Amino acid sequence: MPEGDTVWLAARNLHSALAGELLTGFDLRVPPFATADLTGEKIIEVVSRGKHLLHRIGDFTLHSHLKMEGAWHLYRPGSPWRRRVFEARAVLETEPWQAVGFALAITELIRRDDEHTVVGHLGPDLLGADWNRGEAITRLSAEPSTRAFIAILDQRNLAGIGNEYANELLFLRGVLPTRSIGDIDVAPLVDLSQRMLQSNRERSIRSTTGDLRPGHTSWVYARAGKSCRRCGTPIRRGMLGPTPLTERLTYWCPCCQR
Ligand SMILES: [Zn+2]
Repeated sequence: MPEGDTVWLAARNLHSALAGELLTGFDLRVPPFATADLTGEKIIEVVSRGKHLLHRIGDFTLHSHLKMEGAWHLYRPGSPWRRRVFEARAVLETEPWQAVGFALAITELIRRDDEHTVVGHLGPDLLGADWNRGEAITRLSAEPSTRAFIAILDQRNLAGIGNEYANELLFLRGVLPTRSIGDIDVAPLVDLSQRMLQSNRERSIRSTTGDLRPGHTSWVYARAGKSCRRCGTPIRRGMLGPTPLTERLTYWCPCCQR
């Protein structure tokens, strides 16, 4: 699933291909924006904010979010697409490249001045040039009774963390997902989360163990019933979220995490 590091890498690749180019074609395949046309405008830059992608084009910003299934692909003009045509939500064409956003959970065109309405709520961006460690610690500590797993997934506290990292972070800190965030030492958790995303952002295989072999890349995530790599106890799985409708899968070792 795309987490902040995936989105950061997507933004960097899109930026390298598109920045400074003039649009020769612009097609948003979502009803509210189907008639929008920025052909002839210049793509200024492509940046990520947490798990959000922003294509800055002329006076506008194309805001997209990958959620579970979304992806941006770059193609040379005329090359066949690697995903199905009906999944395309955005097609941006320049002379050298065609960028296609597939199965995007959010595709919207807003005025540049309105970017704050879509990303203004986000906490410090773990991979942002403006990363603010102190602010991240303050925000995470603001509601001490919140369960640790829920607090670190809340994008208003830390922007860029997804389900996989949240589970792995808590294992590495020896903390049960259900513990209150106020009971644990937040600063090392914040530092570890930044190191984890930094070390993964350049590579296509995400690993929190340092081992890139298939089946060896996580401590607890997606390992329910398998033996803990540290103590051998079977890994447990459950659901946890701020509301029943927003529960996420959580994994933990009942022996290593307290
Ligand atoms: Zn264990």
